[in-house]
Amino acid sequence: MAPVIHWFRRDLRLTDNTALHHAAEAGSVIPAYVLSTWKREHGWTGPLRQSFLCGCLQSLAANLEHLHSRLIIRAGDAVAELEKLAVETRAAAIFFNRDPDPFGKATEVRVRAMCGRLGIRCESFKDTVLHDPDEVLTGEGQPYRVFTPYSKNWLGLPKAGPLPRPSVLGPAPKVASLPLPAPAYWQLEPVNDPCFPLPGERAARGRMKHFVDDGILAGYAMHRDEPHGQSTSMLSQDLRFGLISIRELFQRTQRHAKFVQELAWREFYMAILHHWPEVLDHEFNPQWRGMAWPGTNEHFTRWREGRTGFPIVDAGMRQLLTTGLMHNRVRMIVAMFLTKDLHCDWRWGEQFFHQHLVDAEIASNNGGWQWSAGTGADAAPYFRIQNPWSQTRRYDPEARYIKHWLPELRHVPVESLVSPPSHGGSIAAGYPPPMVDHAVERERTLALFAQHRARHGRA
Ligand SMILES: Cc1cc2nc3c(=O)[nH]c(=O)nc-3n(C[C@H](O)[C@H](O)[C@H](O)COP(=O)(O)OP(=O)(O)OC[C@H]3O[C@@H](n4cnc5c(N)ncnc54)[C@H](O)[C@@H]3O)c2cc1C
Repeated sequence: MAPVIHWFRRDLRLTDNTALHHAAEAGSVIPAYVLSTWKREHGWTGPLRQSFLCGCLQSLAANLEHLHSRLIIRAGDAVAELEKLAVETRAAAIFFNRDPDPFGKATEVRVRAMCGRLGIRCESFKDTVLHDPDEVLTGEGQPYRVFTPYSKNWLGLPKAGPLPRPSVLGPAPKVASLPLPAPAYWQLEPVNDPCFPLPGERAARGRMKHFVDDGILAGYAMHRDEPHGQSTSMLSQDLRFGLISIRELFQRTQRHAKFVQELAWREFYMAILHHWPEVLDHEFNPQWRGMAWPGTNEHFTRWREGRTGFPIVDAGMRQLLTTGLMHNRVRMIVAMFLTKDLHCDWRWGEQFFHQHLVDAEIASNNGGWQWSAGTGADAAPYFRIQNPWSQTRRYDPEARYIKHWLPELRHVPVESLVSPPSHGGSIAAGYPPPMVDHAVERERTLALFAQHRARHGRA
C-alpha cells in the first residue's frame, strides 16, 4: 500500500495528534517537517523561539525513533518540498493539522492545489483549537466582537476528547533527510539559560502534570495574577508548538472555570483574527484607526532594553529577554506602559514581543497588544490606564518578582520599588530614574484619544 505523509507543523507531538492518528490508520506514515527559509530578513522570530523549535524537533525525532520511524527534514517552500517528497515516496496522501494563522492558511490552500495536481488525497484536521472560529457564532450566524457571550457559547459546545497515541507508524522512511537543525541554521546563537523552558513533548507533559497535580491549578483563580514564582500553567509555548493537545489540557482542567476561561480567550483571539484579519495592520475598533502614537524611537529603545526606571516594567523586559516568556499581568503592565506612558505605537511592541516570545501566537499577541492599547476587541477602554506603581503594590507587594529579575535592586528596600522616588532621582546607583512621570503621561494619553475622537467622531 502506498505510504502517506504526515506534515508536522505546530503539532510537534505524538500523543493525541489528530492528523497523525488518522494518517497512522490510513497506512505507513512518512513523518515530515519543512524548515522555513527565514534568514533573519524579518524580525518576527528570534534566537529564543528558534532554539525552542530545534529542541522540539530533536525530541520529536527521538520519539519517532522509539516507534521505529524517522523524521524527514526538508527546508524551503513547504509546498514545493512536500510535492517533491510526495513524488519521491509515491505517497497516496498528505495529512496535516490546520493552522489558525493567515500565513499557514494561505499555505494550506496551495498544498491542497498541489495535491489536486498530483492526484493524491489532502486530509486536513482541526487540532489546534477545541472550536474553529465558524463553530462559535451568534444566533444570527455572525462572529462575536465581545468575549463574554463568545465564551458562554464556546463553553456550552460539546468538546472532543483526546485520541490515543499511535503505536505503529510503519517502517522508517528511506528517503533523504537534512540533519536536525541547530540555531546556527538560522545564523543564531544557541540559548543556554537555565530559566529557558525545556523543549519537547516529554518536558511539556511534565509541566502539564506539575500544574494539574501539584496544587497550582487548584490555586489558579486566587493566585494567577502574582508574577513571582509559578502561579499559572506556563504551558503557552507548549500549546503554541503543539507539544500538548488542547483536548487533553481541557479534559484535565475542565472543572476549573477560571483556567478554562483563559483557554477560551486564546480561541476568541484566534476567531477575531480569522474574521477580521485586518487587525494585524489596523486597530480592531475602527474608532481608533489612524490614531497618533507620537512616542519616540529613543523611548522605545529604553523600554526594549528594560531601562525605563520603572522596576516592574524593567523586570518584565528582563524576563522576556532572558527566557522568552513573561507573566500575563506583567505583559499587560509593560504593554500599557509602552502605549499609554510612552505613547509608542502598539505595533512596535507587538512586533518586539513576537520576535522574543517563545510562545508568540499571532492572534493572542495582537489581541493582547490591542487590549492594552485600548483599541482591540473587548479591550480595556482607553481611559483605563494602569499605574505601574499601584500595579506593583497590588501584585508584587514584596517586590519578589522585581528582585528576581533585577538583581541590581536586591538590596533596595521594598518601599522604594513599589512607589515612585519622591525626589525624582534614581532608586539605586546605576539604575536609571523613572523616564517619565506617570501622572503627566496619563493626562497626555487622555488628551491624545480625545483629540482623535474630536477630529474623527465616534465610529
Ligand atoms: C501584550 C500581550 C501579549 C501577549 N502575547 C501572547 C502570545 O504571543 N502568545 C500567547 O500564548 N499568549 C499571549 N498573551 C496572553 C498571556 O499573557 C499568555 O498566554 C500567558 O501569559 C501564558 O502563560 P501561561 O501559559 O502560564 O498562562 P495561563 O494563565 O496558565 O493560561 C493558560 C493558557 O491560556 C491561554 N491564555 C491565557 N491568557 C490568555 C490571554 N490573555 N489571551 C489569549 N490566550 C490566553 C494561553 O494559551 C495559556 O497558555 C499576551 C498577553 C498580552 C497582554
